[in-house]
Amino acid sequence: MPETILVALGGNALITPGQPPSIEGQREVLRHALGGVVDLIARGYRVVLTHGNGPQVGHILLRSEAGRQEEAYDLPLDVCVAQSQGETGYLIAQVLEEILRRRAMAERPVVAVMTRTVVERTDPQMQTPTKPIGPFYTREQARELKTRGWRLVEAGPRGWRRVVPSPVPVRVLESASIRRLVESGAIVVAVGGGGIPVGLSAEGRWTGIEAVVDKDLASTLLAIDLLATTILNLTDVDHAKLHFGSPNERDLDRVTTMEARRYLAEGHFAPGSMGPKIQAAIDFLGQGGQAVVVTRPERVVAGFDGLTGTQLRESFEEAAALKNDAICSGTP
Ligand code: ADP
Ligand code: MG
Repeated sequence: MPETILVALGGNALITPGQPPSIEGQREVLRHALGGVVDLIARGYRVVLTHGNGPQVGHILLRSEAGRQEEAYDLPLDVCVAQSQGETGYLIAQVLEEILRRRAMAERPVVAVMTRTVVERTDPQMQTPTKPIGPFYTREQARELKTRGWRLVEAGPRGWRRVVPSPVPVRVLESASIRRLVESGAIVVAVGGGGIPVGLSAEGRWTGIEAVVDKDLASTLLAIDLLATTILNLTDVDHAKLHFGSPNERDLDRVTTMEARRYLAEGHFAPGSMGPKIQAAIDFLGQGGQAVVVTRPERVVAGFDGLTGTQLRESFEEAAALKNDAICSGTP
């Protein structure tokens, strides 16, 4: 049976830095990002793609709020997440089909699945928003936006961002259907934006919860359900780093889960961005996953081959025999 690889595409990695975000811009980024993913498909791996939605869902919410003046109806945040799955799932499917056609693999179907993720209504995260969404703002803009009742946090050198609750995902509702699609040979796009957050109502129905689940944690749940061997976490930095943003900053090349736990506890990885990627990697490797790689989309194949990015494993002993020579320290 072919191995299953889960490729998680960062919502931020779909936006070209320094350019106003747009649909055409995201298509362009995807054209570059997905070539390597198609290389892995051509090697015979089953590939499932997941994606983030931080910037996209923030823009959907902004549009909804701006539309109030024009009497457009309000969109609760769970519906904004569903819309972001539609937007990005559609773009990924179109671009993947384009590349597959060019590479004479047009027979491979691409299917984007509207996916729901179960969360607890009582999750303490519901009271403390941590998930950054939408555009970056200056300090002055942030001060003004707080008067609208928004919560904003300083999100690194690029400025301030609105934050929303991000409860811990418990289960992916559509896992069994996704597994069937993958086994049938489809390339599946799923758990977009971490999945639409739902919780069980008093009447025993799944109803929407106004939050944005972190896609890294939700992707791990899906990867475990699909018995995937590897997670390729594609983002807008080429490595996870120690002392991020300080003069002592250092790329992490190979990290065991034990080391990852220690660095996480020491506060090297910011909550809401690199933190969940590393936590998700620890969870996956602790539940049978073999490898996690954090790198940029254009390095996906080299990352999969162990040549670049931050390589996370339970231990490197058995991998060392195979790949020791291939892994270099520092950026290639
Ligand atoms: P994605 O959309 O791919 O999930 P995120 O913005 O959530 O992207 O996470 C990637 C970001 O994490 C980087 O752009 C960087 O600003 C931030 N970050 C926080 N801590 C670290 C770290 N220790 N090493 C590298 N990047 C970090
Ligand atoms: Mg993220």
